[in-house]
Amino acid sequence: MSQAEPHQGAHPHATSRRNACLALLSAATVGACASEGSHAREAAAKPLPPLPRAPMVLSTWNHGLPANLAALELLHGPGVTKSALDAVEAGCRVVELECPDMTVGLGSRPDRDGRVTLDAAVMVGDGRGGCVAFVQGVKHPISLARLVMERTPHVLLVGAGAEQFARECGVEVALPTLTPAAEAQWRAWLTEKKYAPKINIENHDTISMLALDAQGVMAAGSTTSGLAYKMHGRVGDSPILGAGIFVDAPIGGAICTGLGETVLRTLGAHLAVEAMRAGATPQEACEQAIDRVIAKNPHPENYQVGMLALDYHGLHGACAVQSGFTFALQTELHESPSRLR
Ligand code: ASP
Repeated sequence: MSQAEPHQGAHPHATSRRNACLALLSAATVGACASEGSHAREAAAKPLPPLPRAPMVLSTWNHGLPANLAALELLHGPGVTKSALDAVEAGCRVVELECPDMTVGLGSRPDRDGRVTLDAAVMVGDGRGGCVAFVQGVKHPISLARLVMERTPHVLLVGAGAEQFARECGVEVALPTLTPAAEAQWRAWLTEKKYAPKINIENHDTISMLALDAQGVMAAGSTTSGLAYKMHGRVGDSPILGAGIFVDAPIGGAICTGLGETVLRTLGAHLAVEAMRAGATPQEACEQAIDRVIAKNPHPENYQVGMLALDYHGLHGACAVQSGFTFALQTELHESPSRLR
């Protein structure tokens, strides 16, 4: 689909109050920005990066790499007509289909009742978003989330209602089945029935993506099966705007992965974006959000959360609770800094 974010308006640098403040500060009229606080003044004192380094794509985990490649293919080249939202959708669809870690898409590990239930969300910087949760048999929940945003007056559809909407839109809804690998692992799990999330072990992962296109439009997306062997009906942070993903023009966006309950309790992605609004760099914003997750959720040694942020300059940040959180920036994989070890 074509560029479809008419409300984001001109390049954020033209309109941002923060950037208006930066301009004023560079003219040595510091007092005019007093309401932004000292943190903002510190940020304003830093040199401005070149504007913007787009297109930019940032994604969680190793599977972010093929997702980024698919996304960047849409955003590069002369005569590009695809948007950041198209890119995020395309990237997430790659992982939904390939499902390399059995944590995204129909090939995922099931809940404790043997059902694969999927969550997804998209959001663009003008505040529009669409989400689906607890859906079964939907091959591309990320596209269904986009349809919720574009074709309904709602933001979040769940379960049978979301599946009914999918059929109404002509989206195929298959009979829920398990892949042989997922079924074998679930049956092995049934012998013990122990629910214990392991740090960085692939009983939970998510592809979450942020893209900034050459028109200065930012979009985020996330798609996941949540935690393996979760209670039937459990929904995590990924399809909740402000928790798993959040974008706000002209500030920036943030995305999460990890133990969703800890992120839901803190609205992690929203925290990071609000930190950037207050003047934090994307890196500082991720650190602040992860510190809050740790402060509000006991025993951080027992869970993992990874946070990524991107601002409209194209600058990114990354932070995790534990080591081992990898992310893809453009066409390269990186390991995020972490708070505990
Ligand atoms: N955040 C996802 C959830 O809790 C899982 C993950 O990203 O690891 O559903």
